[in-house]
Parts: sequence; structure tokens; C-alpha cells
Amino acid sequence: MSGSSTQQPQTPREVEVLIVGAGFSGLGMGIQLRRRGHESFAVIERADDVGGSWRDNTYPGVACDVPSPLYSYSFRINTEWSRMYSPGGEIWDYLRDAAREEGIEPHLVLSADMIEAKWDVTTGRWFVHTSNGDFVSEILVSATGHLTDVKFPDVPGLDTFAGSLFHSARWDHGTPLDGRRVGVVGTGASALQIIPELAEVASEVVVFQRSAPYVRPRQDRVFSESEKQLFRRDETTVREMREVLFWGGDYSFAARRLLPSFLEEARTMALRHLENQVPDPELRAKLTPHYEIGCKRILSSDVYYPAMTLPHVRLETSALAVVDGTKAVSTTGNAYELDVLVFATGFETYDLPSSHRIVGRGGQTLAAHWGDNGMQAYDSVAVAGFPNFFMLNGPGTSLGHNSLVYMIETQVDHVMGALDWWRAGGRPPLEVSQDSEEAFGRELDRRAAGTVLLQGGCSSWYLDPRNGRATLSWPDFAHRFRDECATFDPAVYLPAAVPVGE
Ligand code: NAP
Repeated sequence: MSGSSTQQPQTPREVEVLIVGAGFSGLGMGIQLRRRGHESFAVIERADDVGGSWRDNTYPGVACDVPSPLYSYSFRINTEWSRMYSPGGEIWDYLRDAAREEGIEPHLVLSADMIEAKWDVTTGRWFVHTSNGDFVSEILVSATGHLTDVKFPDVPGLDTFAGSLFHSARWDHGTPLDGRRVGVVGTGASALQIIPELAEVASEVVVFQRSAPYVRPRQDRVFSESEKQLFRRDETTVREMREVLFWGGDYSFAARRLLPSFLEEARTMALRHLENQVPDPELRAKLTPHYEIGCKRILSSDVYYPAMTLPHVRLETSALAVVDGTKAVSTTGNAYELDVLVFATGFETYDLPSSHRIVGRGGQTLAAHWGDNGMQAYDSVAVAGFPNFFMLNGPGTSLGHNSLVYMIETQVDHVMGALDWWRAGGRPPLEVSQDSEEAFGRELDRRAAGTVLLQGGCSSWYLDPRNGRATLSWPDFAHRFRDECATFDPAVYLPAAVPVGE
């Protein structure tokens, strides 16, 4: 991927819109700007390539668990997906192609880690300091993702581990795995894809399971050449498939709303899958979750349970507690001699690291503004005290039942609406009130309270452990997000400037 990666401007580069992050959100925003004829923007990216999660996650078995025809931009239909759930590399290629073909590359500044973004009240602009030059922009769009910064558990002795140790999203491809004893910490979406792959090459795999996940059949399949020919000949066939997949995903939210028959249907499907794939009742009991389905992300795999039945795969049903040299010790005191330790322990989700680097009016960071009450944003996109600032894929966007790309596109529409209005209206600072932000946060709290996220008897990365709020989640049907949050309403942004009733 090209882009001005070695550029070190002496004076800040001035752009109308600065986008931070070149994953699905940041590229989607850039593409829409270009498609509407706006060229005064830059996309800064801390890594040396575009692609976000799909650049970072290269672990064995990495693939999407949202169907590919749906997990892609609606405005860039891909007729070439190899299968229903495409491997991560294909999704990364899709994003790289999008950046190149949509003319985003000249706007990219790679290896530019945002160190601080500060609103300057005098000039009404954002001053952004990065590791690869400084920027001044009128509008700042944060597109830094919420599954970006890796999380390691606080386990004593990690630095004493004598073998290779790494996180699933920073896979060390130089570490040999053949014939080695490998520990995997965690049983989330990443671990479930990694474990079957490791089981094929390692001499022993030890899985540290703190809580068992619900796993449903994957229903993956290869797209045949004749299907792809049909897709190429008539793109509407892919669009129709997207529709079906979208509404199927939204249908499944009914179970998250705790509607008994929907819950029962989802639970039965997962537990039957476990029963079909794990004949040993003792192992099955250990793999059975002790919370309601949907409380954590529902996973899909046809190869995870079979891998867990293999003689050289051992299931430790307690957390990793201590590491001591070559030994990894569980909470219950079981010790395992290991050569490699993989942390599939997820990401920093409730206190996004980027929120400590964005400074709004009055010199307050986003993190300080939110405090222990946690993240929230009006329409999941705008924050009080942060003028001309929009967040994509931040608070109130995450979901386990549909495609995040749909959420991102909805937010891009909101921001594009805001920019159209702002340009036409003399470029006043756009800012929502504290009341608007809080009212939206309260409304999401109200909806989340009636869902399995809060009622399901588990802890998950959707929740802020400081207050128990589901701050990251959109706790409703995905289509409602579009209905409610896609449209920019100037009256909310500039309450003082717009007469009541107008
Ligand atoms: P995750 O869902 O946060 O899972 C982390 C796992 O680590 C959990 O099982 C957690 O246990 C466990 N854990 C943490 N500390 C531990 C300890 N000391 N000992 C044992 N286990 C420990 O992270 P992830 O699997 O990387 O997935 C994160 C999200 O990324 C997914 O939910 C999904 O949205 C996305 N993702 C998507 C795909 C895809 O196919 N589209 C693939 C991978 C990831 P508890 O459950 O008990 O907390």
C-alpha cells in the first residue's frame, strides 16, 4: 500500500477533514468524501498499511463470523468472495483494493500515530500532533475502532515465561508451532478459530477456559464458480442475498430481547450442536455455558468442538492465574509445561486508549469528560464539549447479531449530512449539548436493561466494569440504528441558533 508514509511536514498540513484510522470506518468515510467531490481531507493511520482489524489479525484460521456478502460496503459490492465466511486475508484485500480504486491512497498518511488532537477555541480548529507530522483540520473524525488495542490479563509472572508469548491480534509468525506444547488463553471468537488450527500441528494444546462460549453450527460454504458468474452478471443477486442475511441477523435480536421462544430456539440450536459433536458427557459438561445465550457473543464453528475431543487437546476449566518460567498455572492450581503461550484475551473496549488523546473545549480529554460513567455519544456519533468532532464505531455501535459495516455506513451518512449543512451554513462549530448526549445515553441504558446483555448472568466486553453499563453496544435491532441515527438534525447540534419549531 502506498501513501505518504515517510512524509515529515515542517508546518502542520491543513485539511478540511482529518480522519483518524484507515479500517472499515476511516476508509468508508474517505470514500464517501471523495465520491461527493471533496478532496480536502487526510486519513492518518498508525500502522504501515490500511485494513484495521483485518490487517492486525493474521492468526491461523482468521475469518469473519458475519457472512461476507453482508460484511462489506453496500456501495462496493464484491462479487468475488470465495465463500460465505471469508478468510481474514480476503477481507484485508477487499479494503486495500477499496483504498486504491477509490483514490484514497493520495490522502493516506501511514505510520502516523495520533499523539494528541486538541480543539483550539480561538481558531475553531483541531490541532493534531502525530508521530508522522502535524495537522490542522476543521473537522475531526475518529475512526479508531473498538477492537484495536490488545488486552492482556493481569497475570503475575508473564515476563518470566521462557517460551514465546504473544497476543492473537499480534501473531508471531516466526514462532514454530509444529510439535510444540501450546497454551491458548481464552475461548472467545479468536480462540475458537485458532484452537482447531493449532491442534493440527502442535504436540499438545492446553485451553484455558474461564467461561464456556455458546457455539452454533457455522453453515459456511464455498461459492461455486457458477454462483460467482451469476454475481458478476447481475449484482442485484448479491444485494438480494445481503437483504436476506441482514433481516436474518435482525430477526435473531428477538432472542437478545429475552423473548422466551426465540431464546429457547437459539439455546437449543447451540446445545444440540455441542451434543452432536461431543459424545463424552464429562467433556460436554465442561463445555456447557453457565449463563444465558447471547449474553456474550454467540460463536459459530464446526471444527472447535471436534478439536476439543482430540487426545492431545486439554481443557483447563479455570483461568490462567500465574506464569512461572515454562509453567502456566491455572486458578485451580493445575500447572502445564508450555513452549508457546497465545493470549486470545480480547481488546481494550470500555476505556478506549484514543479517548485519552482527544482534548475538547476546556482542555478536557474524552476519557475525562466521560469519567467513570463511561462512554456515550449523541446518536452514537457526537459528544458534548467536542465541537466539529464525530466518532465512528465508538460507543453505542457494537452488536452481536448483524454487520458492523452497516452501523459504520449509517454513521458516515450522519456525518456527511452534518458536513453538507455545515458547509452551506457558514461553517459554524457543530456541537451537541450535554443534555442531548445524556438523554441518548439514558435511552440506550433503558433499552439495554431489557436485553440478555444485562440480564444474561455473564460479564462481557460489551459492559463497562466500572458501572455495569453496556456502553459499547447498540442494544436494539440494527435497522433501528439507521432509522434513528443516520440523519443529521441541526436543531440538536445548534440549539441556540435554531429557533424552536423551525
Ligand atoms: P474476547 O471475546 O474478549 O475473548 C477473550 C477471552 O479471553 C474470553 O474467553 C475471556 O474469558 C478470556 N480470558 C481473559 N482473561 C483470561 C484468563 N486470565 N484466563 C483465561 N481466559 C481469560 O476476545 P476475542 O476472542 O479476540 O474476540 C473479541 C471480538 O472480536 C469478538 O467478540 C468479535 O466481535 C471480534 N472477532 C470477530 C471475529 C470474526 O470472525 N468476525 C473473529 C475474532 C474476533 P471470559 O469469557 O470468561 O471473559
